[in-house]
Amino acid sequence: MTAPRTDWHARVTELRFTTRAVIDGQLVDAADGATFERISPRDGQLLAEVAAGGERDVDAAVRAARAAFEDGRWSGLAPAARKTRLLRFADVVEDHADELALTISLEMGKPIGDARRIEVPALVTTLRWFAEAADKLVDQLPHVDPSALAMVTREPVGVVGAIVPWNFPLTMAGWKLGPALAAGNCVVLKPAEQSPLSALRLGELALEAGLPEGVLNVVPGLGPVAGQALGRHLDVDVLTFTGSGEVGAELLRYSADSNLKRVYLELGGKTPNVVFADAPNLARAARKAAWGITFNQGEMCTAASRLLVQRDVADEFVGQVVEAAKSKTVGDPLDEATQVGPVVDDTAMRRVLGYVEAGREAGASLALGGNQALTDTGGTYVEPTVFTGVDSSMRIAQEEIFGPVLSVLTFDDLDDAVRIANDTVYGLAASVWTRDLTTAHLAARRIKAGTVWVNCFEEGDLTVPFGGMKRSGNGRDKSLHAFDEYTDLKTTWIQLG
Ligand code: NAD
Repeated sequence: MTAPRTDWHARVTELRFTTRAVIDGQLVDAADGATFERISPRDGQLLAEVAAGGERDVDAAVRAARAAFEDGRWSGLAPAARKTRLLRFADVVEDHADELALTISLEMGKPIGDARRIEVPALVTTLRWFAEAADKLVDQLPHVDPSALAMVTREPVGVVGAIVPWNFPLTMAGWKLGPALAAGNCVVLKPAEQSPLSALRLGELALEAGLPEGVLNVVPGLGPVAGQALGRHLDVDVLTFTGSGEVGAELLRYSADSNLKRVYLELGGKTPNVVFADAPNLARAARKAAWGITFNQGEMCTAASRLLVQRDVADEFVGQVVEAAKSKTVGDPLDEATQVGPVVDDTAMRRVLGYVEAGREAGASLALGGNQALTDTGGTYVEPTVFTGVDSSMRIAQEEIFGPVLSVLTFDDLDDAVRIANDTVYGLAASVWTRDLTTAHLAARRIKAGTVWVNCFEEGDLTVPFGGMKRSGNGRDKSLHAFDEYTDLKTTWIQLG
């Protein structure tokens, strides 16, 4: 990637937002002309009026995707040809990395450094990884009775509806688009209403990169309108979703009420970050704990929102975590020095502060923060917040806060730690810090989570699947396993004699 320019404030005026839907290769207004406003959480100012897609727009996008799929302009290409085109798409995205990063910072408040150095590169890497995988997949010829030949082949499902959240707007989109497109499907992407602008620009860049018309359609709009229309559409084969459990449940209902489309859900989490007294480097673990709840303003499905510390070291360790969290720079997301930007909107801020109130009322002790910050900016900033003395039954230990609010609990031994770690409806990720190999393995085996990190947090790459257990969902993004969601297995049995 080219080195980013850092005069971000000056560059806001150069930005030209794509605000219309991308359907069948065209930028179009909503059929009924409706729009919705995107207000920047940075300063409360209007960023753009965006086309508010409705049922007719979603239908047009699904029809375009279906037509593109059926005539083979994408599915009929040799996988190597799809690879070349997807690699070109990734290159074009990379060429526009600054613009996309700036758009993300403005629309959902991610600090520009993270948007430019983490979010956009993650999309580029994901597109490249799945592009490269496209022509390396092989089918199977199982050993069967010699009088027959059995073939087990994978076919693209057809039309994929992808509904994504705003917290990692392009990474999440990439995790869906990469495998879906590489497998030969056509896609209708419905971005969150809080982050439509980066997704629309992505749709436009796909066209600039030469993806055929109708292969990637992007319909912005309100969840209960555009999202519902996609979820209920009779001609969508697979729905892939990242977002909240409440909406995930709706999508299952839409599927049941429509065409029984397959629904893959990546939902919320309440990650237990379990620190044993014998952790190899407690100071590092403390820094990671603070980072894990403040990175992306704590608006992360894997946010390390429950810190479980072994009682003997709790006081000292929590002191280090509080110091590290206190040192985070909360500020304008367009400043390179900012580490914690605003939460995504006013509703989110009120929800987060409501949890702070709930923690206080339940009897937890506020060790840091707890207030709105930078009130004179007009933005929605929240101080990094740490609660100690938390009991696992409290709402702040049970529910996903999706803000920079940490709940600290203590435990005595492995059994206690595992019991508390598993004591929520979620099972997305967990972290375990210990020098003891047996403790590490037993904890990793017994904690019910799709990912368990040992002596680290939020590590991984595209080779490993990501997804949840329990109410954190049923899907798996990333890795070759992602192709399972976007392909159907077909058995062809040929009788030879
Ligand atoms: P959300 O569920 O409110 O919205 C997600 C998407 O669903 C948006 O595009 C929204 O427009 C759409 N939507 C809303 N109502 C809908 C409806 N009735 N029908 C169809 N679509 C609808 O979630 P959010 O606030 O955007 O994102 C935060 C949530 O996402 C958190 O719970 C977080 O943990 C989760 N998340 C999970 C992962 C993961 O990989 N497991 C990753 C990131 C975020």
